[in-house]
Amino acid sequence: MDMKVAKKKLALKEKYRLLTRDLGWEPTYQNKDEIYPYTKYEGIRIHDWDKWEDPFRLTMDSYWKYQAEKERKFYAIIDAHAQNNGHLHITDARYLSALKIFLQAISPGEYAAGKGFARMGREFPGVGTQVACQMQAIDEIRHAQTQIHALSNYNKFYNGFHAFADARDRMWYCTVPRSFFDDAVSAGPFEFMIAIGFSFEYVLTNLLFVPFMSGAAYNGDMATVTFGFSAQSDEARHMTLGLECIKFMLEQDPANLPIVQGWIDKWFWRGFRVLGLVSTMMDYMLPKRVMSWREAWNIYGIENGTALFRDLARYGIRAPAGWDDAEKAIDHMSHQFMLGLYQWSFGTALHSWIPSDDDMAWLAKKYPDTFDKYYRPRWEHIKKLKAAGTQFANYGLAKLCQTCQLPIVFTEPDDPTRSAQREGEYKGEKYHFCSDGCQHIFENEPEKYIQAWLPMPQLFQDPIGGDLAAWMDWVGLRNGKDNGDFDGSEDQKNFDAWRAMATSNQ
Ligand code: FE
Ligand code: ZN
Repeated sequence: MDMKVAKKKLALKEKYRLLTRDLGWEPTYQNKDEIYPYTKYEGIRIHDWDKWEDPFRLTMDSYWKYQAEKERKFYAIIDAHAQNNGHLHITDARYLSALKIFLQAISPGEYAAGKGFARMGREFPGVGTQVACQMQAIDEIRHAQTQIHALSNYNKFYNGFHAFADARDRMWYCTVPRSFFDDAVSAGPFEFMIAIGFSFEYVLTNLLFVPFMSGAAYNGDMATVTFGFSAQSDEARHMTLGLECIKFMLEQDPANLPIVQGWIDKWFWRGFRVLGLVSTMMDYMLPKRVMSWREAWNIYGIENGTALFRDLARYGIRAPAGWDDAEKAIDHMSHQFMLGLYQWSFGTALHSWIPSDDDMAWLAKKYPDTFDKYYRPRWEHIKKLKAAGTQFANYGLAKLCQTCQLPIVFTEPDDPTRSAQREGEYKGEKYHFCSDGCQHIFENEPEKYIQAWLPMPQLFQDPIGGDLAAWMDWVGLRNGKDNGDFDGSEDQKNFDAWRAMATSNQ
């Protein structure tokens, strides 16, 4: 009689061990340094790769199962959104500007993060790390896809969505996040983990996905809420991977501390500059607002950041160098950005507008120390110009920061009446910066940043040669449709007309 052997079901932990440790072996005919050529040149010293464990211990089969379930729900909801004329259920078409920034500037960043993690999965020697990086690579590609799919429905009805890939590469406000990701992907593997795992996931994503997604819900946009939650449920894993990497480096060798601190300083400031776009989305672009940028910063920036740096203090890490300057900028940045977007609105694939009296009352309440004093007078002046038929437009070329690529629109941390400008020289050329933070980043790696592609000098090169219409063609901007003041735009008129049709018998 045959003996029946009961097939032993493996515990999850055992499965994970087999998935990871069994995939790793000691090479015999190749030298490890040649297999992993990028792990040493950044100066990080690692003695035992096995100490880096993915705390989630997720196996591939459960990963596919969870993600497939999320995808099924996501596509069911965006399908319902499209069937149910979801494009008419948003509060008001001004809201779309926030989505256009999202699609042009943020979703391509998800894709870049995906490429970066695919590379890191190959370059790191530890098996736990390799598996976690591969999963995150797939997650990030999925985020880019779900966002593009969710927003494609709006593209059928509204302007400004159609050329997001060109915008990402060429538009002046999109090269800010683009240069952030280019900088990260062209760094070494450990720096990449701080750039994305710490700066993008901790500093940016929390402030972007949590409060902004509640903003989407408040404004009736179920498509965005759905991709937001679908992405946010991966974030716990991503943040942990980033944090584990930081702790791993610090635990492996005391000599790693100054290198890690330098990256935390650099990437905090780079992340903070990209966040400027988000501050404007929250304070100005949501017709129905959930919380101000300042309130979001207090929770997701100060509270979470303080807890994080308290946790890291035992390794000798201190808060990032730009932390105090960031705090001083919070009550100013959304206003400075929106004034920037408005004065260059002929060159944006989204609409901006003068805040209404109601909006200004809200802003004054949320920013009692800054709005009435510094920003209301400017908006009132701009309003007068518009009423007189001379809408304010700035056709002068903005001076760009060589590091973050933003126009120089910020003020001095300790004097909101003075424009902040920094200048430096390298190999006989002059470079400009928006802040001390950006200047320090440049000075640490000048050879990297002098190669940066900046959108303004491009205006005088082929195929544009200084011609504004040629530039619009080149960036995929349809003049009079995608750009300019929201008032009187096609988006505004269409939305109002369709909404009226949906709610009346005409
Ligand atoms: Fe993502
Ligand atoms: Zn800068």
